Amino acid sequence: MSFKDLAKSQPAVAAVLQRSLENERLAHAYLFAGDALEDMALAARELAKAVNCESATKQGGCGQCAQCQKIEATSPPGGQHPDVQWAFAESKSRRIRIKQMRELERLLHQKPGMGRMKVGVVFEADRLVPDAANAFLKTLEEPPDRSLILLLTAQPEQLLETVQSRGQRIQFGAAEAKVNAAHTAVLDGLMTLLDESGSVLAAYRLLGVVRGFLDAERKRIEPEVEARMQLDRYREVEDEDWHVKMEEERLAQVEADYRRVRGGLMVSMEWLLRDVLVCAQEADEKLVFHRDRRDALAPLGRKVGLERAMDNVAVIEEVQEQLDHNVNESLALEVALLRMCGLSAPAPVVT
Ligand SMILES: [Zn+2]
Repeated sequence: MSFKDLAKSQPAVAAVLQRSLENERLAHAYLFAGDALEDMALAARELAKAVNCESATKQGGCGQCAQCQKIEATSPPGGQHPDVQWAFAESKSRRIRIKQMRELERLLHQKPGMGRMKVGVVFEADRLVPDAANAFLKTLEEPPDRSLILLLTAQPEQLLETVQSRGQRIQFGAAEAKVNAAHTAVLDGLMTLLDESGSVLAAYRLLGVVRGFLDAERKRIEPEVEARMQLDRYREVEDEDWHVKMEEERLAQVEADYRRVRGGLMVSMEWLLRDVLVCAQEADEKLVFHRDRRDALAPLGRKVGLERAMDNVAVIEEVQEQLDHNVNESLALEVALLRMCGLSAPAPVVT
């Protein structure tokens, strides 16, 4: 195994990591995020080898020396190298406990025994119980000398905000782009809006669908965050400051989850509008992202025309930027949809 293997499935990730190694600008901590946990584990192993190998090149570890071989060993999972340690969820509870994180911390604070650098890998970091995450926070904030911390997760949004923000995030792509099934109604409405150019009714109908989706998501997210933070377990805690802090954390997590869901919807819409542009340009239909809609998109692209198709892409990009800057969400969406049906409206008010 080598970076070459990683480059087959994750070319962008492999390139980023290799560049950082070449320039000796590796971060102290990384957050590997995405659906491809196996690829993340492979990347973690390759990094551990690259920083410890006896004859490392720009391509990473050699795979032959004692360091590399111990890191590659599969038993125990994560290898046999004394300076490289993995924390996994316990098989029964599916949780990573505070005890495991304490052990990892101890290793990271020691001098390297055999290699040059200590590497701590937290596999499925979303499985950390809150106490364990909190306990580890200090090490993340001030990583010991010659240590590298790698957090691997398919659900980065489930990590404490404070943990998420400590590592340099590297996104692992899914093998194939997936279209979220929950976005179907919105995308249908968007196509109708484009088809019925100038129809205010279509714009407001779509606004209703978007609002319905977002409101339902927020209702789903709130209890999910509370369960995740296990807040009911801590009702009895008497420390007032602690409760204030936890409430802030709760609100931050609800907001982060909500923004992620909203961002996902906006990206789906943007891809559809880009598809319309591809069809308006009569470009290669392989470029169409929403393949399942290809037959309907081709005539729609011709009907909308190049100029409006380009404008619409600009509109969705603008609204995404506005939403990132805390404008009034409903108003920003309303204005955007009215512009897409060819009507102008006042610019959204920044709140
Ligand atoms: Zn080696």
